[in-house]
Amino acid sequence: MSVILVVEDERELNKVLQAYLTRAGYRALSAYSGPEALRLWEQEKPDLVILDLNLPGIDGLELAREMRKTRDVPIIMATARVDEVDRLIGLELGADDYVTKPYSPREVVARVKAVLRRGARAPEAPAVLTLGKLSIDTGAHSAKLGSAPLELTPTEFGMLQLLVSQPGRVFTRLQLLEAAQGMSFEGYERSVDVHIKNLRRKIKEADPEQQYIETVFGVGYRARQIEG
Ligand code: CA
Repeated sequence: MSVILVVEDERELNKVLQAYLTRAGYRALSAYSGPEALRLWEQEKPDLVILDLNLPGIDGLELAREMRKTRDVPIIMATARVDEVDRLIGLELGADDYVTKPYSPREVVARVKAVLRRGARAPEAPAVLTLGKLSIDTGAHSAKLGSAPLELTPTEFGMLQLLVSQPGRVFTRLQLLEAAQGMSFEGYERSVDVHIKNLRRKIKEADPEQQYIETVFGVGYRARQIEG
């Protein structure tokens, strides 16, 4: 049974999350402050942490850094500050996911499931990634929709591969640039929008029915989670 540590100083919210997580089959632990969180982190060795960014007495980022010193466990950040999100999922902390407040407990449980599933996957990426009708052969650097090959530029291919490697996960423009070109410059962030626009057009020509890439306002893009 996976152990989830909920660090949230709003008591009601913490209790609700705990109840939802328990119902979903997890062992949920509650911490209401930084010191309490660190104590449970040491004693109970949780498999995942849901961490409120705004805690009394300590910055959630600082707390995350403390935790990561000893173990590399997935962290889902909760914040009311949408402007913070870029920084959270960016390189500074490398949070695995985030939720913005107010959130629904159901949504948080879904994120927990997705992040744990991601972590459970073999560390080596599979040679062929699939999403809906889309399949990406990472070795051959080719992609197709059903049986129709997609003619992609190397940059488009790199971005698509990153997005599809973790459906549902949001990537910032900088992360997409870095994955596609091996480097990133802040001034080029907007160029990502052009690449994504071209990718979408090519995908749409081959599969007009299904949307594969979603825009996450103010953050970046993600591959849509497609069942089956
Ligand atoms: Ca708080």
